[in-house]
Amino acid sequence: MRIFSHRERPVHLGPYAMERLPRSDGPAVLAETAWSRSDAGGERAIWRVMGDYAALYDSLRDGDVAPQRAPISQDPERRARDLKAHCYFLDAQIVGTTRIPGDAWRGAAVAEHAFALVIAIEYAKDPAPGAPGDDWLTGAQDARADLRAGEIATIMAGYIRHLGYPARAHSASLSEVDLPRLAIAAGIAETGPDGALRNPFLGRRFRLAAVTTTFEIAADRPLARRRLGDGWRVWGPGYWLGAGGAKPGWRRLNVAARPLHLGPYPMEKIDRVPETTTLITDEVPRVPKRANFFTRCLNGDFGPKAQRERNRFAFKTPYAQGYMPLIKNLVPMQDGPVADERAPGTDDPATNANDVKAAGYFLGADMVGICAAPAFAYYSHELDGTPIAPYHKYAIVMLIDQGYETMEGASGDDWISGAQSMRAYMRGAEIAGVLAAQVRSLGYSAKSHTNADSDVLHIPLILLAGLGELSRIGELVLNPFVGPRFKSVVVTTDMPLAPDRPIDFGLQDFCDQCMKCARECPCDAISFGDKIMFNGYEMWKPDVEKCVRYRVTNPKGSACGRCMKMCPYNSEGLLVHRLFLWAAIKLPFTRQWIAILDDKVGNGRRNPAKRWWYDLEIVDDVAVAPPLGTNERDLDLDRVVDPAKQKLAIYPADTMPPPDSTEPVPVDRKAGMRRAAEAEKAADARARVS
Ligand code: SF4
Ligand code: SF4
Repeated sequence: MRIFSHRERPVHLGPYAMERLPRSDGPAVLAETAWSRSDAGGERAIWRVMGDYAALYDSLRDGDVAPQRAPISQDPERRARDLKAHCYFLDAQIVGTTRIPGDAWRGAAVAEHAFALVIAIEYAKDPAPGAPGDDWLTGAQDARADLRAGEIATIMAGYIRHLGYPARAHSASLSEVDLPRLAIAAGIAETGPDGALRNPFLGRRFRLAAVTTTFEIAADRPLARRRLGDGWRVWGPGYWLGAGGAKPGWRRLNVAARPLHLGPYPMEKIDRVPETTTLITDEVPRVPKRANFFTRCLNGDFGPKAQRERNRFAFKTPYAQGYMPLIKNLVPMQDGPVADERAPGTDDPATNANDVKAAGYFLGADMVGICAAPAFAYYSHELDGTPIAPYHKYAIVMLIDQGYETMEGASGDDWISGAQSMRAYMRGAEIAGVLAAQVRSLGYSAKSHTNADSDVLHIPLILLAGLGELSRIGELVLNPFVGPRFKSVVVTTDMPLAPDRPIDFGLQDFCDQCMKCARECPCDAISFGDKIMFNGYEMWKPDVEKCVRYRVTNPKGSACGRCMKMCPYNSEGLLVHRLFLWAAIKLPFTRQWIAILDDKVGNGRRNPAKRWWYDLEIVDDVAVAPPLGTNERDLDLDRVVDPAKQKLAIYPADTMPPPDSTEPVPVDRKAGMRRAAEAEKAADARARVS
């Protein structure tokens, strides 16, 4: 939570007010620095399972360069801003740029690489001694920060290569450059009196990675010695309160006081209820993977255009192309061998649940919840028709925030939209993969389920794990603190875990009175009407065919997440937003007014201060200016739709293609509209079931 808004703070400045530090006009003094990695802890230390991930990122550090250069600015300043903002989008804490000093090369210089982007990743919150997660996480700070820094450097090098310029990532485990020297030259670190590398905001609690490249970018200046008086400007009241939109210093105190396993958001203050707020009957059918609508696109059920676009729609920008190799190569790491013996002291479900949550937050998840994994949450068949028998009793469900800042600058269906989704999917795959490997190392079977490969449906698990309620958007759960602005990842396991309970924060009534997502959907896929029953679930059933078709074939952008951007719960998380949230929970009469006020203050418009990316489309492996332009939608306050006239189609489980069909099974839209008209009303189902 913050007090001051950072709506006007440009993304390339990052969360820390590094711009307030005095800079030197002379060359950097590149002294030898004490900077070594330290892994500690016992047999259960989580860094022991991270090595494979670091090795994967190192294996992807270099590669082919696009055959043609992207039509982007030749201004080195503008280019540096784009690279920095992209790093901050990926959760770097401090980023700098430099011309590479000759003595920063440790081996032979990479021919023509004259420029470097240097990335600092801050340590996570430490578990208190003896607190949940202590014996997993203590001693793993360096490994965690190295992994994240290496991940971001690998992505950024891939991104620059897709712009048509050679680039290579350098991590703590594989580098031809002296990372501390580069950090000093790029003005993101300095040498302390003890010879140790430090940053004025992070102290020694950070790790580094870098990208070297031929791509010309403006260099930052090294940090200068601070004089008397600088301290007030940099660390005065403005720093503590977060003036200018920088990260407020007081948050450090708050974060320090809060136990790690509770996470950054006060989910423990949200009411828990015995059952989900939307009815889930015992009539939920299991569906095959072939029934997934993106898979149906791939099989030609939506026609040749959607089939053609399906494989590129979310990756058709150089940003998302940077994530693709990681997402693809993380799939084989979702499962693995289980340690022969169970670690002693791991049979208490409550202790295990807290350890798992602490680890999820330490690794970077924004929310972690746990539930029993019911059979209906498992897909029924693999794509080749092989039946899937439910195999794990518990599910650890994690949410990854797609990021307020970039969502704020975007229309929701422009050229950064696909990258927003893929960034969260990639990060989720990394976090869940490491967590599952950790659980397996303790002697329990565990498997992660990502967007690239999942045996489970995530929506029921998010609901059951108490991380949100079903919203009007339809097949999308909404969390009280990050709204609908997240992607999910799941780890299933047979490790005994204490489950959480579902939550109730008044969303059903709020969505009853708010139509914003339905009004702003570019293809009218979201219902303006009442909830119905679909496959045994009570929900505002969207027209998934319309939505998926639009996302896959969107001609002026990559994918779509406009409904997420529009929702009043997609907030910046300021104190004032928390007050509105509590009003919406405790004072039902305020809900309609909050929805109206959200429109009045213009939430949902594009904020130019947060627009950092280039509009680019990859065509034949080359990044070009999008020939058809860019969606530049803002609010459409006058759009009114009569629910009785809205044409929505639904496709229940009994209309799905056979599990192993590889031939196109065309979507029957007329039948889908008939099924929508005949669907049981949610109120009737509640009466019937009770
Ligand atoms: Fe509509 Fe886009 Fe949301 Fe789909 S993702 S429901 S098309 S706004
Ligand atoms: Fe519910 Fe309004 Fe958000 Fe739609 S925009 S999910 S109706 S709160």
